[in-house]
Amino acid sequence: MTYHGGCQCGAVAFEADGEITQLVECNCSICKPKGYLLWFVPEADFRLTTDESALSEYRFNTHKIAHQFCSTCGVSTFGHGPGMYAVNARTLKDFDVKSVPIQAFDGASR
Ligand SMILES: [Zn+2]
Repeated sequence: MTYHGGCQCGAVAFEADGEITQLVECNCSICKPKGYLLWFVPEADFRLTTDESALSEYRFNTHKIAHQFCSTCGVSTFGHGPGMYAVNARTLKDFDVKSVPIQAFDGASR
């Protein structure tokens, strides 16, 4: 199915295809304070439906992952790494993050 998501103000919106069977809660220095619940989507199954210019990005450590967020309202919608998107499932419309198992990932120790 196709999931729709976006930020609070509407400047950032996206669609992603797939089935959400679990989410990942990572305890690294960026995921933990942001409260990310991650759903990994192959790049080909992800579409940004608003203008790229609405996004700001933050990179740290190896700089491989762009942690993208809305420049206007600040909501963190997804990260973009090589070949995949890490969607913050909390920003999906009509999806209850408590409806699937949540897997802990020890990103802090990596
Ligand atoms: Zn926004």
